[in-house]
Parts: sequence; structure tokens; C-alpha cells
Amino acid sequence: MPGEAPEPTAKSLRTLIPEYAGLARDTVLLNPEPGDPGVRESSLGGKLLWPADEPWPYCAQEDHWTFGSDPSNRTEIVPGAVPMVPILQLFARDVPGLEFPEGKDLLQLVWCALMHEQDPRLLVMPRLYWRNEAEIVAGGLLYEVPEVSEGEYDEDNMPEPSTLSPTTAEDYPRWLDLPKDMRETWEPRLRLPSGHAVWPPDSNLIGTKVGGWPAWTQPADRPDCESGHGMEHLLTITGDIQLGDCGGVYFFHCRRCPGLPWDWRFDCH
Ligand SMILES: [Zn+2]
Ligand SMILES: [Zn+2]
Repeated sequence: MPGEAPEPTAKSLRTLIPEYAGLARDTVLLNPEPGDPGVRESSLGGKLLWPADEPWPYCAQEDHWTFGSDPSNRTEIVPGAVPMVPILQLFARDVPGLEFPEGKDLLQLVWCALMHEQDPRLLVMPRLYWRNEAEIVAGGLLYEVPEVSEGEYDEDNMPEPSTLSPTTAEDYPRWLDLPKDMRETWEPRLRLPSGHAVWPPDSNLIGTKVGGWPAWTQPADRPDCESGHGMEHLLTITGDIQLGDCGGVYFFHCRRCPGLPWDWRFDCH
């Protein structure tokens, strides 16, 4: 990149490339801070408001090992499923920008904190749940949440329990997430009268966030739903956990299809 090129700002880019302005989307940055979030609070890596009548999810990959049937005997280790870990819990009241399905006001995300060496494409095998807070509270909570044993999991995949302080901001796509035709005509228009070129856009907000544009660290890899619709970015988890060599985990869903199908992607260096 030319060293003397001016730093692009969202404003200068909007002037040079008018259609760039049309790509602005609101995102909700979750701003996690290590803490002790309660079960009725939005959190990253905190306890989840989980219905008593629903079994806690497990990951049953073949290469997973767990303790035997006697929980006090920590020397007996057998092949078996391991409990998923809480990743994210969002109450509608805390994330006004997030559109919930009708009758739902709570979004929960869990994933497996163990390595999936047999198939790295599985990475964390997340699961997503849309729920109704009042229904869970009325039906009773699951208090005996199984925990994955220390030493078993990959610490990189476990977020520190954190409270959230959501803020809204304007977000733009990363360069490789721009529409192709815009990218192709971009370069000549980025020349300033001085002859310098403005750098490619970098007004994409990196962080754990809801909505807006994915905070890819590698080329964009957007999923389509089974009906062929391009899926919409739901949330990005990045920066607040290590995820090994990976940049982030990105969730997408399709609002055009019944049942709100969702999918996820991750990028590794
Ligand atoms: Zn697993
Ligand atoms: Zn669809």
C-alpha cells in the first residue's frame, strides 16, 4: 500500500464511492467485560437460562472422552459425549437492534470446547436457540448444568464469563465482502486529485457483535440457505476468545424461510 495515502474514513469513502453509503448497517457491539453475569442477564460465557425439561446439549464426536459413570472416580475415562459450554445469551431488552422471531425474546448459543481433530471443519459445532424468557421461568430452570471437565477442553474455545454493555454503531463491509461490481470499479475512483489512492475500505468493526457486517479476518464465505437465499449476518464472535488460529465464528440466518434456518462459518489463518 502506498505509504502516503490518506487514511480512508467512512466519510471520505462515501464521498468518493456514493453507493458505499448504501452499505451502512447498524450493528450492536456487545463489549464484553469479565464479570459474574447472572442467569437472567445477557452474557458471553455466562450461565444460561435453561429450561428444566430440556436436556443440556452434548457433543458426541467419536474422539471425545469423558469420565465414567462414577463421577467421583476421576481415573476412569471412557469414550463418550461431553457437555457443550455456554457461549452467548442475549435478551431482547439488551439488544434492541436484534429482530427476534415472533414470541421469542432470548437467543442462546452453546458450542463444544473440545478439539475436533478428526475434522477441523467442525471446529466448535455450535447450536443456536431462540426462546421465550417468561416461558422458561414459568416452567422452571435447569440448575444442574453439566460442566466439561478441566483439562479436557481447549481453553482457546472457552470465553471468560463476561457481562455485556451493548452499544450501537455504523458498520461497513470488509473489502472482500463488497459487491463484486463495486470492487471492480472501485480502484480508479479512489484516486484523489493529488494522485494518491485511498486505501481500500476498513470501516468494518471488529468485535463480538450482532447484525451489521461479518468481521471476517479472511475472505468472505457467506452461506446460502437450502432454498438458495443468501443468508443474513446474525452475529460475529471474535476477539474475546482465542479460538486457536481462527479469527472468529460467524452466524447467519435466513428470514425468508420458515423455521429461520441458520448456518455458521469460521475463518482460520
Ligand atoms: Zn465436540
Ligand atoms: Zn431461505
